[in-house]
Amino acid sequence: MTPPAVAFEATEPFGFFDHVRVPYRVVRASRPRPAAPVRAAGTLWPVADPGTCLWWCRAEERPASERRSGRFTVDGIPVAGRVVTDEALDRELDTAAWRRDAVVADPDGRPVSSVRRHVDGSLLLPFDPGEVLTTLWSEGYRDLGRSGLLSAVRGLAIRGYYAVRPVLPRPVQIRLRQAFTTVQGRSDFPRWPVEDCVADLSVWLLGRIGGVAGEPVPWIEPWPDGRRWALVLTHDVETGDGFAQRELLRATERDLGLRSSWNLVAERYDVDDREVRALQDEGCEIGVHGLRHDGKDLGSRRLLRRRLPAMRRAAERWGAHGFRSPATQRQWEWMPELGFAYDTSTPDTDPYEPQPGGCCTTQPFLHGDMVELPITLPQDHTVFAVLDHPGATVWLDKTAHIRDREGMALVLTHPDYATDPRVADGYRELLTTFHADPSVWHALPHEVASWWRDRAGSCLERRGGTWCVVGPAAGRARVRLGTERAVADTAP
Ligand SMILES: [Zn+2]
Repeated sequence: MTPPAVAFEATEPFGFFDHVRVPYRVVRASRPRPAAPVRAAGTLWPVADPGTCLWWCRAEERPASERRSGRFTVDGIPVAGRVVTDEALDRELDTAAWRRDAVVADPDGRPVSSVRRHVDGSLLLPFDPGEVLTTLWSEGYRDLGRSGLLSAVRGLAIRGYYAVRPVLPRPVQIRLRQAFTTVQGRSDFPRWPVEDCVADLSVWLLGRIGGVAGEPVPWIEPWPDGRRWALVLTHDVETGDGFAQRELLRATERDLGLRSSWNLVAERYDVDDREVRALQDEGCEIGVHGLRHDGKDLGSRRLLRRRLPAMRRAAERWGAHGFRSPATQRQWEWMPELGFAYDTSTPDTDPYEPQPGGCCTTQPFLHGDMVELPITLPQDHTVFAVLDHPGATVWLDKTAHIRDREGMALVLTHPDYATDPRVADGYRELLTTFHADPSVWHALPHEVASWWRDRAGSCLERRGGTWCVVGPAAGRARVRLGTERAVADTAP
């Protein structure tokens, strides 16, 4: 008998598998199962051994009394979204067969639900992992469980800051940000400077689903050509002076043979196209850093639509594929409308920006047709101006951590602030420490976006006894089984 070409079948799309690229197929109907919980949203079963399966719930389909919204922990991993309560599950399940497994608790540690394991080995998740991922990526955790009024007040406060910021002298801006630091630093989610919950949840899910399947789950590694992590260098140019003093940062990169991306504001200062071309001739990339850097690009949807044509024209003039929003201002629903191949305006975690929060991951993800590239190292301005660190330790430590977790260290520095020797020296120390790492992929943002799209457009197929990558990433992508690294992959 030939082994099945996919590892799993499911009754509907399973967002987590789409993200990590586990081979599965959506089929019309589930086989009848005696253990079936009546109100589960979907089922997933291993094709090779369909005796056990994974069920998941979608809490938003339940009445409010049967669900909790907001942040919670799964087996100790902090996540956010909606979860079906233990009481609701107990009413529906044969509790003698469906035992309580990992605890799902509220942020204060009080149990609200539990992952259930059937005596036959099947698993029931009281939440939808795909919804949890989207809630984290979109920063939806900020509004979940809050009143609409509170969310509106928060939105107004942020818009107010962006409106007055351009008229505040820079030292006043910095003092204001320092004053807010103690308040913002107290925010316990996302944790700072590292929030690993998406990575932790992914490992947990792969492990548990591997348990259901009775063998490690195959998926596509995050990085191409056997690389283990990515280092991506980006700069936002705030003023014409910043563009003029770009050598403060660029010289270090050139010495080490590295390339970077320069995000320019379309209509705030003049840049000589020949100087832009000189950067591109060195292998650098240009991105668009908003229209005027006045806090209004994403102030309203109407204004965004009015400003977009001018931003698109700048992108065409510079051959830009990507967008970086001034002051990381962002609106999840609007970003794909920008029409760029990628956006890089969301930090993984940053309680210090005027719009605090983060997407909780150091890996790229798809947002509609657009790839989001999270800013994953704290900004130069935060580290040295707001927090007044003497050196770049936080950059070095976090980059080492990202390398160990196979993430993307995406650095954002500003030539405008590089007259502070701590910025220029810290940047040099960061690059000299990691540029020769044998496992790193040095990539420009548009290269990462293009790779991520290729990976998302590829799948695994079993041919003979082995898993092969089929699609645009074939030839560069590697297959991983479960959560262990394959031996052959350790030497890139
Ligand atoms: Zn800026």
